[in-house]
Amino acid sequence: MTFKPTTYQPYDFANRRHIGPSPKEMEKMLEVIGTDSLDSLIDETVPSDIRQQDALDWGDALSERDTLFHLRRVAKKNKVLTSLIGQGYYGTMTPPVILRNILENPAWYTAYTPYQPEISQGRLEALLNYQTMVADLTGLDIANASLLDEATAAAEAMTMAQRASKSKATKFFIDENCHPQNIAVMKTRAEPIGIEIVVGNPDTDLKADDVFGAVFQYPGTYGDVRDFTAIIENLHEFKALAVMIADPLALAVLKAPGEMGADIAVGSTQRFGVPMGFGGPHAAYMATRDAYKRSMPGRIIGVSIDSRGNKAYRLALQTREQHIRREKATSNVCTAQALLAVMASMYAVFHGPDGIKAIAQIIHQHAVRLAVGLEKLGFKVSPDVFFDTITVEVGSMQGVILNAGVANGINLRKIGNDRIGISVDEQTRPETIEAIWTSFGGNDMKDDPTIALDYRLPSDVARTSEYLTHPIFHMNRAESEMTRYIRKLADRDLALDRAMIPLGSCTMKLNATMEMIPITWPEFGDIHPFAPRDQVDGYYEMIDDLSDKLCQITGYDAISMQPNSGAQGEYAGLITIRNYHNAQGNSHRNVCLIPTSAHGTNPATAQMVGYKVVVVKSAENGDIDVADFREKAEKHAENLAACMITYPSTHGVFEETVREVCDITHQHGGQVYIDGANMNAMVGLVQPGKIGGDVSHLNLHKTFCIPHGGGGPGMGPIGVREHLKAYLPGHPELNEAVGPVSAAPFGSPSILPISWAYCLAMGGEGLTQATKVAILNANYIAKRLEGAFEVLYTSKSGRVAHECILDTRPLKDSAGVTVDDVAKRLIDCGFHAPTMSWPVAGTLMVEPTESETKAELDRFCDAMLAIRAEAQDIEDGKIDGENNPLKNAPHTVEDLVGEWDRPYSREQACYPPGAFRVDKYWAPVNRVDNSYGDRNLVCSCPPLEDYADAAE
Ligand SMILES: *Cc1c(COP(=O)(O)O)cnc(C)c1O
Repeated sequence: MTFKPTTYQPYDFANRRHIGPSPKEMEKMLEVIGTDSLDSLIDETVPSDIRQQDALDWGDALSERDTLFHLRRVAKKNKVLTSLIGQGYYGTMTPPVILRNILENPAWYTAYTPYQPEISQGRLEALLNYQTMVADLTGLDIANASLLDEATAAAEAMTMAQRASKSKATKFFIDENCHPQNIAVMKTRAEPIGIEIVVGNPDTDLKADDVFGAVFQYPGTYGDVRDFTAIIENLHEFKALAVMIADPLALAVLKAPGEMGADIAVGSTQRFGVPMGFGGPHAAYMATRDAYKRSMPGRIIGVSIDSRGNKAYRLALQTREQHIRREKATSNVCTAQALLAVMASMYAVFHGPDGIKAIAQIIHQHAVRLAVGLEKLGFKVSPDVFFDTITVEVGSMQGVILNAGVANGINLRKIGNDRIGISVDEQTRPETIEAIWTSFGGNDMKDDPTIALDYRLPSDVARTSEYLTHPIFHMNRAESEMTRYIRKLADRDLALDRAMIPLGSCTMKLNATMEMIPITWPEFGDIHPFAPRDQVDGYYEMIDDLSDKLCQITGYDAISMQPNSGAQGEYAGLITIRNYHNAQGNSHRNVCLIPTSAHGTNPATAQMVGYKVVVVKSAENGDIDVADFREKAEKHAENLAACMITYPSTHGVFEETVREVCDITHQHGGQVYIDGANMNAMVGLVQPGKIGGDVSHLNLHKTFCIPHGGGGPGMGPIGVREHLKAYLPGHPELNEAVGPVSAAPFGSPSILPISWAYCLAMGGEGLTQATKVAILNANYIAKRLEGAFEVLYTSKSGRVAHECILDTRPLKDSAGVTVDDVAKRLIDCGFHAPTMSWPVAGTLMVEPTESETKAELDRFCDAMLAIRAEAQDIEDGKIDGENNPLKNAPHTVEDLVGEWDRPYSREQACYPPGAFRVDKYWAPVNRVDNSYGDRNLVCSCPPLEDYADAAE
């Protein structure tokens, strides 16, 4: 026998692991579509005049092993010191049971935002626990889940205070003791909408009759802990609202903001078990009084009932979402920080109130021991009373001590030129304190008996009220209980680890395990965002290289990694455009053209920078109505600031007129914002920066493999052309002049390894192939469903881009079947529904992505065809119009165990085409009643019999 070398490539990540269909399957699919080759399909789909000239090239694609090896090497260039810099970021212990069973568990991290409540009960419960925890700790009535970071949450609180307050004042007061990045982000947000910021000392500079609200940090950035009750009373006398930015761990031992009269509390739950990660992602929280609940931004989980009257969770007050309210929405927050909120809530479930309180007390004891020691060394320590943070006056010794700290493995905070700040945390050990003393010149103080421990918490703001009283926070402390609780909730949900999630515009593609591995390495996780520059070479190398690649992909000249969601990217982009216009002496330009088909975050964002939204019509074929666009651009030429378009369009088509639309905008002095959420249809084929775009955001949590986490985290970096580069968001910690849009200089950098690993392991060619296959998969579905569902919009050649809109509206007329019925019946078939009623009401938008195999696409198509056939039976009078599998979907085990009196079989109910026999996904609840939940708003854990026997 002669030896024949194999040509099989087991390590081809792009074609064997990331891209679903095998070459053989692709051939069959192309046959069904009716085209010769993948490239001819692309030629028919993507207009030739916008095609990218040069191929993406950054060398050979790496294998999974080599990718991890490379990331390891770069990660090691970060130096992991003990950072006691504080300023909103603290060392914390992620309980291993949470690390492995949530953060590293695809059942949790690959889930989508819980818009479909029936398949989201697990994460909805975890998020409801989060809201309950926040409301308890802050002493307020209602909390959301969640906001992007503490600084943007503070900015949201500011605008919410303006909406909710009855004061006519236009000023907002910021306590100078707020963290600098919080002050900076609030300033950025205030200026375009005409809010005047006053920063000062609340005792001397706050004039309550002159402001609509004020914000205080608690504890303050230098450690101060004080009672704000009198100040808040004074504000209330003049109808102004009070916001407190509170550290949730400190609230375990300190009087709650609600008990001081605060109207809104915000803050970061980072130190509830989420690593610092060089700035994020972490969940910020917001809580408020019942009276203001309808002004609250972000997502709120509520309790409702299902069609059997059983308790079921859901997103509450959904009518406030941007898709409906558009420029009148309370904020543009869409992707938030669900996964991190789940982690924080589980930290509270794991430790319970006693554990949390003990952790806070131990931290305080460390801080006291530290302070007493430093005082013995002759340093002046302030404040007199504190929780975890102290400030030390060091005069000209500052540099020497900071350097000595680093030599001892510890980062301390430089304050001005003569003070040092120290915040101790859950990771602090006695040795840490001793190393600090050493850095301050103290030797052998370890066993000094005169360092007596005492409380230095202010007695007038000591916490007396209870918190975390709900039984869920009082489980038996055995890890077996915790593991099973986490598993139980995960099993209630349908995430990507069970089935394809064909959500249009959301690009639910593979989140490869390899890509996820580096994010839990300490070299990425345990880094403070304000750590000295020479300790973060690895982060900078990664950010620079990923930015270079994203520039190549988009055709832009510079990238800002600061925005931590797509909507934040839009905001950063419009702020950049606004800065640019201002610098050109065009500050009057304030009109933003937005097509009707735009994502709701577009108008919501335009409003946040003070822009006037002018809506442009869609033509019959779904494209932007160019005549209407031109007319409106001309009409507003004098004041045109920008247009916001999406490409390929939200209708799933590569419009031929995109260059024309960009040209018209430029002719009239406007800048072009191209929403890059659909970049998955363009990578390697079309560059937004080369077809007329001036700025775009990328959703790294869509196109570049960061998982959705059940509604966050995300990253929304923006790319800009050269002329806008100088106006990108800056950051005070980097001494940059332009104001920041996020708390941390690089947004949520600890999840960037995911996108970077994806780019490295795919290579330029692999990424381009992925785009082509994404288009192939969408066209395959469109073709297979032809005749059953009309594809609403196609290009002239009859092709769709990477997604397609299926028209389910005719079923409403012919059979009384709604888009909801179809979506819920898909659950019986073992699928998450496609995007519902957006961008066209009553339709479904399907985006399969390149990661789905032909078998999975066929399973989906079979399910859709079976649903069409069920509707046909209603049309033909073969089955009742009200009592049928579509109206009764989803079917649960509860339906089966009772008496079966339906005009269709149990078999048909539970095993429609698509459903797996043995591995069937069972929805834990029947169809959820949304309006009941809004009428009877309950947004914290209800006392439930399930928990009655729970006991520590
Ligand atoms: C997802 C999406 C956004 C918003 O992105 P988030 O990360 O959710 O804030 C904006 N535009 C379009 C078209 C999108 O699909």
